Amino acid sequence: MNRTARFAAGAAVYSVILSAFLGWGLAGEASAAEDKPGSYGKTADGREVAAFVLKNRAGIEVRLISRGATITHLYLPDRDGKLADVALGFDDVAGYESDRNQYFGCIVGRVAGRIAKSQFTLDGKIYKLEANNGRNHLHGGGPKSLEKVLWDGKPFKTERGQGVRFTYTSPDGEEGYPGRLELAVTYLLTDDNKLEMDFEATTDKATPVNLSQHMYFNLAGHGAETVLDHVLMLNADRYNPVDEELIPTGELAPVEGTPLDFRKATVIGKRIEQLIDTPTMGYDVNFVLNKEKPGQMTLAAMLKHPGSGRVLKVLTTQPGVQLYTGNFLFGQEGKGGQKYAKRSAVCLETQHFPDSVNQPHFPSTILRPGKKYHERCIYEFSTEK
Ligand code: BGC
Repeated sequence: MNRTARFAAGAAVYSVILSAFLGWGLAGEASAAEDKPGSYGKTADGREVAAFVLKNRAGIEVRLISRGATITHLYLPDRDGKLADVALGFDDVAGYESDRNQYFGCIVGRVAGRIAKSQFTLDGKIYKLEANNGRNHLHGGGPKSLEKVLWDGKPFKTERGQGVRFTYTSPDGEEGYPGRLELAVTYLLTDDNKLEMDFEATTDKATPVNLSQHMYFNLAGHGAETVLDHVLMLNADRYNPVDEELIPTGELAPVEGTPLDFRKATVIGKRIEQLIDTPTMGYDVNFVLNKEKPGQMTLAAMLKHPGSGRVLKVLTTQPGVQLYTGNFLFGQEGKGGQKYAKRSAVCLETQHFPDSVNQPHFPSTILRPGKKYHERCIYEFSTEK
């Protein structure tokens, strides 16, 4: 038996034991990460988009592509071991390139979130960025923002699971940002049911960096009508109020007494109607995570779908999490012909606060030469009876 076969055989035995223990059934055959990536098809300009599959012993499966280092599929067992794909996405590259794509499953950057009036001043110099959200800049800008470029993906295995390390070098001045930025995003699917993400960067000139994963979840399965039935807990006493253009006012306001108080697990739909007449038309809010010290890995969110028993915990080293309830989804067609209606998915984007580069009292997003940017995010999957 060669190494791969031995791993597969061992894993299969282990997976029976583990699935019996977890009550998940043998949902999927454990198998080693493909040594060579597959293909998701080609970009409109003829470049190959690589595809990767990660599996663990409990049958969880994550599929990724090199465009935007994007998660295209995430299969999770329910309380009876039945798998569902809980990630919004598209079956082909053309879908990701179309205007049906609202940052589905990708890495957003160089700077996730909004930058007011699409500009900032750094070390006395003014930098102008593309205005792609009214007069503001959102999620890194135009055709070379990180969700649109092709990353170089390398599959790997460790004793803990299977992963892909994506790298991309963003040249000095790309999308208006200073500095040649060397980026790496590493995904590791572990056999203890976590998807661990490491976001790393170095630069040769001072520049803002704020990377985030932009997965849209519906724990009932993508295409299910709503997430208003999901239960959410957020580990945040405060949030960033925004103006009518969704730019933070700079205040860190208490959630107490508002529909943003998720410190106790609450059904998402319970108070959302109170936000209808606000500029966000639902939840589209950055929360200030409770942390004893900056950079500490802490629980940000817990999301639960009572119908299936699927539970997601999100942990992060980052200071904030953006809760976005898909208020701007418009019924576009996604994978398998499913329609993605308004509020049929939720994003929990761990990140620094929006517009940090123009808000000196927010935790800094400036990376300087010789320093390393390293943030982490963990999705932890389980089920509840
Ligand atoms: C933002 C939303 C935006 C969405 C785009 C979220 O991160 O907070 O305002 O519409 O991304 O998909």
